[in-house]
This record gives sequence, C-alpha cells and structure tokens, in this order.
Amino acid sequence: EDRSISYILPLTNNGNILGLIAFKSRQKLEMIFLETLKQQISMNVQNTNLYTMAITDSMTKLYLQTYFKERIELEIKKYRENNQEFSLIILDIDHFKKFNDNYGHLVGDYVLKEVAKIIKTSVRKLDIVSRYGGEEFGVMLLGTNAETAVLIAERIRSNIENKIFEHMGQEMRVTISGGVANVNMIKDNDSSAIIKIADEALYRSKNNGRNRITLY
Ligand code: GH3
Ligand code: MG
Ligand code: MG
Repeated sequence: EDRSISYILPLTNNGNILGLIAFKSRQKLEMIFLETLKQQISMNVQNTNLYTMAITDSMTKLYLQTYFKERIELEIKKYRENNQEFSLIILDIDHFKKFNDNYGHLVGDYVLKEVAKIIKTSVRKLDIVSRYGGEEFGVMLLGTNAETAVLIAERIRSNIENKIFEHMGQEMRVTISGGVANVNMIKDNDSSAIIKIADEALYRSKNNGRNRITLY
C-alpha cells in the first residue's frame, strides 16, 4: 500500500500566493526543511516573474526591443556556429498617426493590442514576436528561409487587412507594411545590420503604396 505522505506548500511573496507545489514523500519531512524549500522555490518564481516583466511590453505582452536585439544576436551566433538560419520581419502599421487623429489614442491603443494578438497567432509558438517601437513589430522566424518568411509575412499582412476591429460600436480597419531579411544576407554579428536591411525593405513597402511586404 502507499504509505507516502502528501505535502502541499504555498509559494508566497509578502503574503501573496505565487503558486502551490504538491508532492509526496515516503519519509516525514522536517518543518525546517519544508520552510527552506518553500522559501527557495518562492524566490526562484519571483525572480522569473521579475525577469519576464523586465523583457515584456505591458501593453501588448510582446517582448521589448532590448530583449529582441539580444535574441537576434544570440541567433546570429547560432547561425555562424551551426548554420541554423532565421529570418526577420519588421512590420509597421500604415498611417497610424492619422488613425489616432480620427479615432482617438485610446482606440489606437486597443487596435495596437489586437494587431499584436493577430501577429502572435499568425506565427509558431517558438517564433519571437516583439513590439519593436510604438506601432512597429519585429518577428524572428527561427529555422526559416527568406522565401518562407515572405509567405508568413504575407499571411500576417492579410490577416490584419481582413480584420474588422470593433470598439464601442465603431468598425475600423488598418493595414500594415513589412520588410523581410534573412541572416544569410549580413556579415556582421550585432543586431543592427539585419534590422537595417529589413527596415530598408519596409521603407520600400511604404514608398510603393503600403499594405505590402518587401524582401530585401
Ligand atoms: P506610416 O504609414 O508612414 O508608418 O505612417 P504613420 O502615421 O504610421 O507613421 P508615424 O511614424 O509618423 O506615426 C506613428 C504613429 O503611431 C504616431 C503615434 O501617434 C502612433 N503611436 C505610436 N505608439 C502608439 C501607442 O502606444 N498608442 C497609440 N494609440 N498610438 C501610438
Ligand atoms: Mg513607425
Ligand atoms: Mg506607421
């Protein structure tokens, strides 16, 4: 028969519950041991939560630019060492200043959050999505060549074009422009070179009429 003892420990920070851990033990565990275990795991959970907050944009829940750039550099390193390629998409909402002027900043914020969700759900879980700037987004597609990245960017673009945003009885639409680059197009190891060429492609999308994707 099962003679083990079940334990449930609340993980806390200043009295706030962070989570619970449950486990079984064949031995009766000392209170001092349980207390130490509880404190150490609580500390780890707190640190993880703080780190997540530090790299996350609170509005869209996407990664901040600082983390995104660090991650690009890490992936460039992997590419140089093991030839694991990736592609980068930079996206920018079209005429968003005018959108804010027409509908107000709060409606603009709502649309920004919705656009972030569309981008996030248009790519795989392992891809890295960032709020790169105010109404700009970066997407890093791991293990993806330039041609496939263009198809995915095109999918994001059309998902946004086809979305009708509804807010307080109003129906609105936005479009987005994008630029695509692949790690095999650059020589440098810092993030700026690949961002620069994706940005150049984005500006060609803007100049050619917006609501389009351009490959560098
Ligand atoms: P373009 O098609 O050339 O990108 O035109 P644009 O108006 O989108 O470009 P511009 O860079 O001139 O303006 C960006 C606008 O995005 C300005 C600003 O009001 C808006 N924006 C940036 N961040 C936020 C935000 O957090 N909330 C809201 N509501 N608007 C934002
Ligand atoms: Mg912009
Ligand atoms: Mg814009």
